[in-house]
Amino acid sequence: MSTPTKRLTTSNRKALDDLMSRRLNTLVPLDRATLREVAAACPRAVASPTRMRCLNPECRKKIDRPAAGRLPHFCGRPCREAFDYERAELLADIAVLTRALEAGQGTHLDRRAVQVELANKRWCLQRYVVPADRTQPERMTPRTEA
Ligand SMILES: [Zn+2]
Repeated sequence: MSTPTKRLTTSNRKALDDLMSRRLNTLVPLDRATLREVAAACPRAVASPTRMRCLNPECRKKIDRPAAGRLPHFCGRPCREAFDYERAELLADIAVLTRALEAGQGTHLDRRAVQVELANKRWCLQRYVVPADRTQPERMTPRTEA
């Protein structure tokens, strides 16, 4: 047993077990997912949050899920634009770093410096990953390297 599990009280453990058993994917295994099964399970499943953080990593605001219509990712236009700008800049930086590694023509230390900066930029980019079609982010497809 790991330490965090040991720290759980019996009532906390029971609440966690209850929560996990009410996840939609637990209530309906993937191979049994039909419209009827899933529609029947949705009211019993853990509800989706009605508030989520703005997708801009620099923003701490929360956005409410509207009752209908397109689901917003950002608290407003400035955050959407800041997100798109920073993501584009990171991708451009990564392209330069990748090209330099392919081109070579430097010392071992130069290569190491470029590799470290590439890792740093990729680490930042992980906060800016959004599917090209922002309206369908939940498709289960193999991840591609940025
Ligand atoms: Zn925001």
